Amino acid sequence: MAGQTTPWLQGASGGSRGAYSDGVVHVFWLAGMSCDGCSVSTLGASNPSVEDLVMGGIPALPRVVLHHPMLAENAGRDFVEPFRQAAEGTLGAPYVVVVEGSIPDDQTFERAGHFAALGAGADWPSSLPSSRAADQPLRVTDWIWALAPGAAASVAIGTCATWGGIPAAAGNITGSMGLMDYLGIGYRSARGIPVINLPGCAPVGDNFTEALSQVLQYLEGVAPLPEFDELGRPAWMFEETVHRHCPKAGYYEEGVFAEEPGDSQCLVEIGCWGPVVQCNIVERGAINHMGGCMVAGGACIGCTMPGFPDKYSPFYKSPPGSAISGGVSKIYGGGIRRLRRMSMKTGNREPMWDNADSIPSAWGIARGKRDPLDKASAFFYKKLQYRGSVHHGKRNKKQPLPASRDILRQKGVDLDGSVDVLGERVKPREEV
Ligand code: SF4
Repeated sequence: MAGQTTPWLQGASGGSRGAYSDGVVHVFWLAGMSCDGCSVSTLGASNPSVEDLVMGGIPALPRVVLHHPMLAENAGRDFVEPFRQAAEGTLGAPYVVVVEGSIPDDQTFERAGHFAALGAGADWPSSLPSSRAADQPLRVTDWIWALAPGAAASVAIGTCATWGGIPAAAGNITGSMGLMDYLGIGYRSARGIPVINLPGCAPVGDNFTEALSQVLQYLEGVAPLPEFDELGRPAWMFEETVHRHCPKAGYYEEGVFAEEPGDSQCLVEIGCWGPVVQCNIVERGAINHMGGCMVAGGACIGCTMPGFPDKYSPFYKSPPGSAISGGVSKIYGGGIRRLRRMSMKTGNREPMWDNADSIPSAWGIARGKRDPLDKASAFFYKKLQYRGSVHHGKRNKKQPLPASRDILRQKGVDLDGSVDVLGERVKPREEV
């Protein structure tokens, strides 16, 4: 049906009635020089999910009518018609433009030729200039310049659309660029919002759906515009470095480094750029709050940053700055690590075990008796710990051992006797 997207994309419920949208906002998804990874990760989003948005089930948010080239069931002119209506101002509802993939420099191609296309010249609004014949493919770059000024917001998703990404790397013949570069510094949406950038290769899907939800709330007048940084990234997602929230940061601090990808230690010596890269992948996870580069043992290669990939390659080399910071961390962290091990030895003992000089664990590694060095370090540690307060160490020392401690021995149960477990004799502690 002309002018309509598929019924399931339009959603089943009526959505919430907002002051701005009257309950419906269209989202036009345009793909430039793209691998479709942004679409895939967006479909994996869970908080909120794409389904939540298109079904209009989120309170205070309008229902999203998604026009996505890969997800739509309709095709050809049926699919392109709403794009035409939006471009000529007859859509009858507000819309958001989302661009995936970098934007090729194909506006200079006269009459024919393109790097990414959607629709044909016959689909183009007659009110707008076009150099395309009716049967010639329309460039995606045509749709972007025609739709962005009237959009309530324009969102670049993924590093290609934000900063140019891989198609904009040195030597690429497409002349690709990000959406900000294409639209220019003067661009503001119809609601006064500059380009919103959600980088990542591929980006975290939840970053997109959450940011879109927040912007829709702002457009509806139910929340303030969320905070964006100076490059248009949602500040609450991108202001921190990966390193600050990395599960391996403790290893970095103690100067313990991985030798190959997949090792559990810090990956900086095998090429991790995490200390200087702004990204929330380790807090948020890749999909459904699971996974993410460092969590899975992969070094950060800076995929959310402007200039990726060239400014972060070669990926097999460690960042030059890591030689200094990693070296300092090895010296400082090595000392700290040894002191912590000493504290951990003390910390892994109940005061009762100190008094009894034994640990009631049959695991061979749990030593009961402490050597003089352990005792001396525990003595000074407690002195510092309890200084100016109640010395619980001294109080614990006076605590009598419980009368029923080691009850099986007291009752005469022979634990060294032969007991069959799955046909094998249970080994006494000494043998373990
Ligand atoms: Fe930092 Fe990377 Fe090491 Fe994680 S793996 S602690 S991000 S340097």
